[in-house]
Amino acid sequence: SNTEDLFGVEESLKELTQLADTAGLMVVGSTYQKLVSPNSRTYIGSGKVAEIKSAINALGVETVIFDDELSAGQLRNLEKAFGGEVRVCDRTALILDIFNQRAATHEAALQVALAQMEYQLPRLTKMWTHLERQAGGKVKGMGEKQIEVDKRILRTQIGVLKKELESVRKHRKQYRNQRLSVPVPVVSLVGYTNAGKSTLLNQLTGANVLAEDRLFATLDPTTRRVQTKNGKEFLLTDTVGFIQKLPTTVVAAFRATLEEISESSLLVHVVDISHPLAEQQIDAVDKVLSELDVSSIPRLMVWNKVDKVSNPESIKLEAEKRDDVVCISALSGEGVNEFCNAVQEKLKDSMVWVEALIP
Ligand code: GDP
Repeated sequence: SNTEDLFGVEESLKELTQLADTAGLMVVGSTYQKLVSPNSRTYIGSGKVAEIKSAINALGVETVIFDDELSAGQLRNLEKAFGGEVRVCDRTALILDIFNQRAATHEAALQVALAQMEYQLPRLTKMWTHLERQAGGKVKGMGEKQIEVDKRILRTQIGVLKKELESVRKHRKQYRNQRLSVPVPVVSLVGYTNAGKSTLLNQLTGANVLAEDRLFATLDPTTRRVQTKNGKEFLLTDTVGFIQKLPTTVVAAFRATLEEISESSLLVHVVDISHPLAEQQIDAVDKVLSELDVSSIPRLMVWNKVDKVSNPESIKLEAEKRDDVVCISALSGEGVNEFCNAVQEKLKDSMVWVEALIP
């Protein structure tokens, strides 16, 4: 029950649900509790623990996710309370899972692995004290010794990863130059989580993806080739969604998953214009973008889900007044051709701009 200024508890839980969905989990329910301060042993109160436990039994729940970061002790106590098979994790672990699934470059994968290990380090106690308990106290102290060994192994692995990251970074510039010589422009989708980026990606492609197309067969699943009506083409790539309450330990991993956008020809900012907090979400995305090295890349804003707003006509009028905004419904396909045209226009602009720089 963490209350933020912009996003209330329910908004935050809704977002957590979407994140779980993104991670491939099926969410069967959510609940929250108002406490003056979190319970130091179990984060939530004992009544709430019992309530969740009966829901676990009734629904066959496998995973319980908490919206705030839990301590090692809280994780252990909750797993014990919920019974052996249930996995308890927190928002941070869930986000790291998603980053892990979505890391498209070697560098991003390393950065995510590093963040996952750093997250595990203070939480190692869990597993071993559990074993000690199972052994019925006969091996007292064994758990503690084992934790020290494990921590040392983990620290060594963290050191190795950091070195590897350093060398990958050194070589990145070379590869970047090579990649820039690819004639097909890369367009990156950015936006708040749940804005509709992957829906747009799917709406635009599908039929256009040729199985025998060797050049594009190696693309990762979040990049697709889009062919516009006039025969021009570009690569459209999805990025991991922007989220509020990003723990500091995962900020670096998040950045790394976004780093490839600095190599794109155009950034398309997808907005869920039907969302009551659309404005705040736009600001949150802009803030992160301003911290990345992308200020010179042209941008296009897409107001998505126009089928869902109560006043589509005034939204469309407002968009028309602005230079860089296109209204679409990624779900129905409305406005998607206009979107492709706008992308072509923008790409043309940027090509002219590059040519103008070369004497
Ligand atoms: P992402 O996190 O930005 O990739 O968002 P998704 O593409 O996964 O979409 C999130 C949710 O919004 C899904 O349930 C989509 O079906 C829904 N959605 C996406 N685009 C539209 C749209 O244009 N209209 C409506 N009504 N729903 C949409």
